[in-house]
Amino acid sequence: MSDVRGQLAVITGAASGIGLALAVEASRRGMNLLLADFNDTALQAVVSSLARPGQQVRTCPVDVSNEENMQLLAKIAEEEFAEVNLLFNNAGICPMGMTWDMKGDDWRRTLDVNLMGVVNGINAFLPMMMKQKGPARIVNTGSIAGLSSNPGGIIYGVSKHAVVALSEGLYMDLQAAQSTVAVSVVCPGFVNTNLGISSADKGDIPESVQQGREALKKTLAQGLSPEELAERVFSAIGDQQFWIFPQPEALGGFDLRVRSIQGRTAPEYIPLLDAQ
Ligand code: NAD
Repeated sequence: MSDVRGQLAVITGAASGIGLALAVEASRRGMNLLLADFNDTALQAVVSSLARPGQQVRTCPVDVSNEENMQLLAKIAEEEFAEVNLLFNNAGICPMGMTWDMKGDDWRRTLDVNLMGVVNGINAFLPMMMKQKGPARIVNTGSIAGLSSNPGGIIYGVSKHAVVALSEGLYMDLQAAQSTVAVSVVCPGFVNTNLGISSADKGDIPESVQQGREALKKTLAQGLSPEELAERVFSAIGDQQFWIFPQPEALGGFDLRVRSIQGRTAPEYIPLLDAQ
């Protein structure tokens, strides 16, 4: 899948950060684009920069947590493009704060977007991808936080552990069914995006939430550029990789976790939010 010219990439969360950079990279490689985001105003603002002669760019306002929205997106893909070659289930949010400051609504919204958004993408698109003749790959955005745990943002970590497990299970099911649909899970470390500022504020914000957000913003600002990340992701897709680690140096926390499990020692972590 290294020559993707003329193929279709569907990208959720395409108005900002990693999703936008994936769209730019896909466009640079000659792909047609079907771009979805909750924030349609932001999506419209970036779309003109993505259009290249001879390539189609279509947008659709979508909340990935809404099953019907994702079914509609898949219908557009089927009717206007016929095949989906790369599906990036990428949209996500990252609430911060200590476990005891997290309300039921915080858990539900994050799992609805980060986990059910991926499930909805798979359910909406996989049937057509399993039937089509051309190459097909589902690329889920997990995180290094899906392989190790850190204090102060556990809802996000739980949602990303689930995305990693879901991706592994999907890969195995497709193998068992001898399907030609491929799967990848991208596990970035820190990337310089708007993830730290895109969470909606509701009512009084607990101190741990405020501190966590500030720390996340500072840490993300020191992260990899989304453009470099997107280039590494496409290169890994070209190599047919399931596990995509754009920053393999960020796997130290995972190694520590495995050692703690194997040695039956208490959980340890490498402080990620050291920009506080
Ligand atoms: P970002 O905030 O810059 O972009 C996320 C985009 O998703 C935004 O355009 C937002 O409007 C959209 N979005 C949010 N909720 C949505 C919904 N319900 N439906 C549709 N669109 C929605 O953040 P980002 O860093 O580019 O995040 C993209 C993905 O990368 C997320 O899944 C995130 O968890 C993951 N990730 C980011 C980092 C990082 O350091 N930035 C690291 C690991 C993983």
